[in-house]
Amino acid sequence: MQLWRLTVGCAVAIAAASVALHSQQRGAPSGAVIYEGARLIVGDESAPIESGAFVVQNGRFTAVGRRGAVQAPAGATRVDLTGKTVMPALVNAHVHFGYERFTKAAGESLPENFTPENLLDHLQREAFYGVGTANDGGSAPVQLSLQFQQDQAARNVPPAAQYWFNAGIVPPNGGPDNILIKGTRPLHANYEVIRAPEGRAAVQDVVAKNITHIKIWLGDRGGAYPAMPWQVYEAIIDEAHKNRVAVHAHATTIRDQKEAIRAGADVLVHMVQNQPIDDELAALVKDKRPCWATVIALGDRSDVCDNDPFFAQSLSARIIADIKATNCGANPNAATREERLKANFMKMIESGARLILGADTGIRPGNAFGSGDHHEIAHWVQMGLPPAQAIIAATSRPAEALGLKDVGRLAEGTMADFLVLNANPLDDIRNTRQIASVYLRGARLDRDALLAKWKNASPSQD
Ligand SMILES: [Zn+2]
Repeated sequence: MQLWRLTVGCAVAIAAASVALHSQQRGAPSGAVIYEGARLIVGDESAPIESGAFVVQNGRFTAVGRRGAVQAPAGATRVDLTGKTVMPALVNAHVHFGYERFTKAAGESLPENFTPENLLDHLQREAFYGVGTANDGGSAPVQLSLQFQQDQAARNVPPAAQYWFNAGIVPPNGGPDNILIKGTRPLHANYEVIRAPEGRAAVQDVVAKNITHIKIWLGDRGGAYPAMPWQVYEAIIDEAHKNRVAVHAHATTIRDQKEAIRAGADVLVHMVQNQPIDDELAALVKDKRPCWATVIALGDRSDVCDNDPFFAQSLSARIIADIKATNCGANPNAATREERLKANFMKMIESGARLILGADTGIRPGNAFGSGDHHEIAHWVQMGLPPAQAIIAATSRPAEALGLKDVGRLAEGTMADFLVLNANPLDDIRNTRQIASVYLRGARLDRDALLAKWKNASPSQD
């Protein structure tokens, strides 16, 4: 276990991550390869390198810089990427893996769906769309998740996005929404706690398992269950921070967002959508600068409705037809919602919220693994965020938020997780969808084989 302090990230706690998880994945070439000529978008605040070069060896970047300034080791394979743009693979800080099986547009969540095979399928969907690391937001069963992480670290799992998860701590029968909870509760995926000592005990159990991030839910989801009392979540956050565990907090109202920030949550999940945020919330954001996963995509109209092939390509004809039949009607409130989203989003950003990627995928097939992330990023830019900032928020910053220092950037020593794009997303953020290839731990992902698998899925997956 290696620890490092987050100097520029949003977590107040010291985040930890297992180094073993970053070991080279099965299939990664060990010989050096030099990639030359592409525009490099580094993933942090540094300027793009217009004609760049980088060397990959044993699954990591060993040199990144201008073409001509980067030396190829003797015997290195040369790959010409002239005309392409390379950026880090995306890092997704908020997903719900395992329960969805792409059979109903309305979404489904069955406990029996959560198998290592289905989890892998979902991580492959993320990888197909260029996500190198993805974090489950507190709905995954803990033991199965720990085992999967071990298997992935031991390279016993085919290439896919690197799996992370938050342990979820909830009030009785609370937490995940009315779809997800049908899967989480039968599996006892969450720690259910009533009083503060139980909250602290749950955190202690998380710590004993070397899990470094937890998720809590504030509020009562419109009266669906009694909210977790403030004494309980304050105790949970206190116990977590004492043990270097970061806390992600679901909060959808102005009141809950203020409470989450005041209590010291490291990552705020969701944005206020039902009313304009006030100056007091903005001032709290300015003071504490939490990380913030907007997860807007879940409430947006699916791009599948517009026959966008980027979104439809990984879905079966049957589920596409079902999404179109049930999820694509005109929403008379769409314009009002959009206006409010934009005003609240920009106010949060201008107040200093540290935006990180998360799209709440895994609940409804119309907002699907991987493609939903591209939708989320484009929506930010549509609301006024510069594309360069959107890319940081989708790469290095979520990596920092998850305590991962070796993903999310094109930099010497980091994992060689990167996208080769046919067009520059700094010109148009939708160019993140122009994926020529995806590399994970230095190995090119066989995207065609994945597509073929999904097209030929058995009727139960169709
Ligand atoms: Zn969520």
